[in-house]
Amino acid sequence: MNKFSWYEAKSIEDALEQVNSTVSEELYGQTDKASVFKSGGIDVFDWVKEGLLKPVKIINIRNIPDLDMISYDKKDGMSIGCNVTLSEMASNELIKTNYLALHQAVNHAATPQLRNMSTLGGNIVQRNRCWYFRSADHDCFRKGGDRCYARHSENGENENHAIIDNGTCVSVHASSISTALMAFNASVVIVNEEGKTKEVSMDEFFVSAGEDISMETILGAKEIIKEIILPAPTKNTKSAYIKQVARESYDWSLGDVAVVFEVSKDTCKSASIVLGAAAPVPYRSIEAQEAIENNTINSVNALAAAEAAMSKARPLSKNGYKVPIFVSAIKQAILEIS
Ligand SMILES: Cc1cc2nc3c(=O)[nH]c(=O)nc-3n(C[C@H](O)[C@H](O)[C@H](O)COP(=O)(O)OP(=O)(O)OC[C@H]3O[C@@H](n4cnc5c(N)ncnc54)[C@H](O)[C@@H]3O)c2cc1C
Ligand code: SF4
Repeated sequence: MNKFSWYEAKSIEDALEQVNSTVSEELYGQTDKASVFKSGGIDVFDWVKEGLLKPVKIINIRNIPDLDMISYDKKDGMSIGCNVTLSEMASNELIKTNYLALHQAVNHAATPQLRNMSTLGGNIVQRNRCWYFRSADHDCFRKGGDRCYARHSENGENENHAIIDNGTCVSVHASSISTALMAFNASVVIVNEEGKTKEVSMDEFFVSAGEDISMETILGAKEIIKEIILPAPTKNTKSAYIKQVARESYDWSLGDVAVVFEVSKDTCKSASIVLGAAAPVPYRSIEAQEAIENNTINSVNALAAAEAAMSKARPLSKNGYKVPIFVSAIKQAILEIS
């Protein structure tokens, strides 16, 4: 591990002033960052210990006041501060009552110990878990190298990788919580170094590998996420989340899905269906949404929507098993709404 200095940020402005981009250091395959923000530290210290991240300065934003609040208003919806931990989200009754799929997603993420440390801001910014990307011994596309080991090498280990939008990097995004956030049409509030604030929808926040392989989100080196906003549900909003894992107790997602419907009796009036661990970023399935909208929620239509979602699937050598997993999970999630 390299030597680094530690800075306890007192406010977002204070943290942003500390970012020093004049020293060139390699960070997550980018070369323009010398400092790194640390919240829960789970992902940041993984990278530092592996020797892939060599910051000269770690800026601790975890103790900035007022970034660990959850508030809810029937008209304006919910605000979740970037430093709210996953445990706090998991036990929050307002989330459970108003955003059931998010409650379910958080409760299925990682372990209780990890949820105690992990923050929402860090969770959506964490980098993908592709083992080649996270190994100091491999320089893949995402790290500026000339190949994707998961996709191209004869024995590429791509069991956990993408089945949709997998034309370049085939990693999948690690945040299963983002699957639910995107399905609720959440947005991310970002503060830049000039103190200006912008609100970006989750659909725009993530960057597909085909668009720019060097990044997974639009977040710049000198920007901090302040909070995540969820629109208020109506009395007809219903939701469900399902995550498939290899081990029951805890694990990364092999495939997860969040569905958020506006319903009228047993009919779906509008649908938001997002898949996790299917593509390099959380993936909104327009095909599934169109297949179920204005239709009765029943077994036949749920299966049709699930199959429509998988019409875009192009599995790799070792992950064809994900297609039936997604078909089953999407169908089940839709039927849980009825
Ligand atoms: C074994 C294991 C299993 C896991 N399983 C799951 C799972 O099933 N589902 C899931 O969703 N997650 C899972 N995680 C992820 C975990 O829960 C954490 O959310 C994640 O690792 C990072 O959260 P953190 O707060 O520790 O972020 P940090 O490590 O502090 O930060 C991560 C990144 O976010 C940046 N960052 C942090 N906060 C901000 C902010 N406010 N503004 C701008 N940038 C910021 C940091 O600079 C860094 O780049 C798992 C982790 C492990 C180790
Ligand atoms: S899937 Fe992406 S992160 Fe993994 S080896 Fe290929 S280019 Fe690198």
